[in-house]
Amino acid sequence: MARPDLLTPLFRSLSSFSGVGPKLDALLNKFFNVAKGQEAIAQDVLMHMPSQTIDRRKQVSIAKAYLGEIVTLELYIDSHQPPPKNRPSMPHRVFAHDESGEISLVFFRTHGNWVEKLLPIGSTRYVCGEIGFFNGAKQITHPDYVLAPDKLDTLPLIEPVYPLTQGLSSKALRKLILQVIERLPDLPEWINKKRLEENHWSSFTDAMRAVHTPNSPQEAELTAPARMRLAYDEYLAGQITLQIIRSTLIKKKGVAREFNGQLTDKLLKALPFTLTQGQHTAISEIMADLGKEDRMSRLLQGDVGSGKTIVALMAMVAVVETGAQAAIMAPTEILATQHYKTLKPLCDAIGLNIILLMGKQKVAVRKPALVGIKDGSINIIVGTHALFQADVEFNNLGLSVVDEQHKFGVYQRLALSEKGKNADLLVMTATPIPRSLVLTHFGDMEVSTLKEKPSGRQPIDTAVLPIKEYTRVVARLKNRIEAGAQAFWVCPLVEQSEILDLVSAQDRYNELKKIFGDKVALVHGRMKAKEKQEIMERFIGNEIKILVATTVIEVGVDVPNASIMIIEHSERFGLAQLHQLRGRVGRGTERSACLLLYKEPLSETANARLQTIKQTEDGFEIAKKDLELRGEGDVLGTRQSGMPGYNLAVPDVHRHLLEKAHADAKNIIANNPSLSGAEGEAVRILLYLFRKELAIPLIRAG
Ligand code: ADP
Ligand code: MG
Repeated sequence: MARPDLLTPLFRSLSSFSGVGPKLDALLNKFFNVAKGQEAIAQDVLMHMPSQTIDRRKQVSIAKAYLGEIVTLELYIDSHQPPPKNRPSMPHRVFAHDESGEISLVFFRTHGNWVEKLLPIGSTRYVCGEIGFFNGAKQITHPDYVLAPDKLDTLPLIEPVYPLTQGLSSKALRKLILQVIERLPDLPEWINKKRLEENHWSSFTDAMRAVHTPNSPQEAELTAPARMRLAYDEYLAGQITLQIIRSTLIKKKGVAREFNGQLTDKLLKALPFTLTQGQHTAISEIMADLGKEDRMSRLLQGDVGSGKTIVALMAMVAVVETGAQAAIMAPTEILATQHYKTLKPLCDAIGLNIILLMGKQKVAVRKPALVGIKDGSINIIVGTHALFQADVEFNNLGLSVVDEQHKFGVYQRLALSEKGKNADLLVMTATPIPRSLVLTHFGDMEVSTLKEKPSGRQPIDTAVLPIKEYTRVVARLKNRIEAGAQAFWVCPLVEQSEILDLVSAQDRYNELKKIFGDKVALVHGRMKAKEKQEIMERFIGNEIKILVATTVIEVGVDVPNASIMIIEHSERFGLAQLHQLRGRVGRGTERSACLLLYKEPLSETANARLQTIKQTEDGFEIAKKDLELRGEGDVLGTRQSGMPGYNLAVPDVHRHLLEKAHADAKNIIANNPSLSGAEGEAVRILLYLFRKELAIPLIRAG
């Protein structure tokens, strides 16, 4: 079914709107986090919620305007005081009064005489802005609006304020939003009557109008009916999608496998260590699933370094033992390659054929690989998402393993399980997910958890330091490197970007090179896969001592000799990410250190994050804290990964609606699995509206 025509206005690309040129368009694509090759659309703007609402109805006299208030004043303009010619950094001041007192208007970095034109001496002007104080006198710095009396009616009295980015002005965004609101179609109602009435909710369209063009600040509040309804809608769309996926997965039968233990026993003997209790338990849970006819859909969660890879290998080898193939998919080429290198010797030892399949391989490598996958001579396939490209045909895929789930979305999970017609599915995640979230986001899966880590691990000493200690940090690093250690140095960005003063990995590399010469190397996301691989190998081989990296190393990389992790601009990273990064060290027997460098001033939440990381290494503890600090939408990642990253719902405020949406979604799919009739049509519209269109083809034929 194609997208209903009704929604067409919301799927128009923003470049087709008035006021959007190529530059703004590019900015908007970036701002809305649009995937490569796609364009930001009206829907993106519609779903972009204001963070607060300014009430400009308050017209007061200067005497009654208090510090910090946003007010509208009717002023008589007295005089101008431009900055002295030799001191352009001084502000341009405009003095004004009304019958109750005096105030000055302050403008920095003015050019030409536009301030004089804006506020002619002797005129009356309505001026809108926040009241500040300077030397005991009232002032407004950079007023939001300055209007001649005959233009007063153009002042937006109730003005929503939106999150912005550098280069995107609130005026430009506002102009777009108004255009979208104007074109907003009336949509059929997908919420049942009872739910609507008990909450006093209006229609989706009215709710959107109330939030973007409110008549009072109260109308747009997070707890007002309009915003509650929209939050519920967003939850409902997500929950219906999960229900559809669940019923798709459940309705397929798997294979009841019988094991003889020949290969798995061999593998256990070939391992250089004994399994932990947790690994044993997880393996037997998986084997029990594989033995049943129902299709397995299991989540294996375990903190960084808890040893998930071996659990996956045992499961894969068990499936191969029954004559089928197994595949493991990693989110990056580095990780896929690393898995391959870890698994290859073990597979060799027990006589299994394993290959690596990635996107950009040479035809000479790829072709025979595809043949072997098709004729079944290859038992285990390691790869990236190239694994579910159209030209990959499995002979008999019995098990798909997806590593580091949080980089993959629900849809990729589905696509993979479609590939292996009735293959079992094991998903591994290093982001420990609190139980409540597992239910709502992985409701379709069983869960195994690795709680303990392999023994012999040393705790990691974690310190938090401001970047101004750079020289000392480098001196200490030098000592440790001379004593044989290896270090990661992580920076947030690849190149100097418009984001003010983030030190880029490239710059840091140049700096460190002056001291460490060719002992230091740089790896980042924009390098060619082969280059990255070469550098990683030289680091693993201990030729390189310091690896400066962007977050490409974030997930899964295993370099046991690396015992130092330095994270620059750590205040910019999320808790989960910091935890993942730190997890890259502390893998060997050497005592490890993690240094969190930050740039002052440190915000309160950034400080809370860094302190949490300093205080605990327990991934579950950290995930819980993350939830407190950020809300659940964020914890699981963004829209791009297909995971719910909420735009309309604010979990702290709207969490209670999630349960209702969950229950309603279940009912909808149970009563009308083919989403037929007028009610079903309305639900489909909801799914399209929230970009869940990938779920549509899965809806059962009526
Ligand atoms: P993660 O869960 O982060 O994917 P890995 O599977 O990469 O963890 O394992 C981390 C490291 O621990 C690897 O070097 C692996 O060989 C090692 N390891 C795994 N299981 C054990 C064990 N039972 N005893 C000792 N070392 C182990
Ligand atoms: Mg791993």
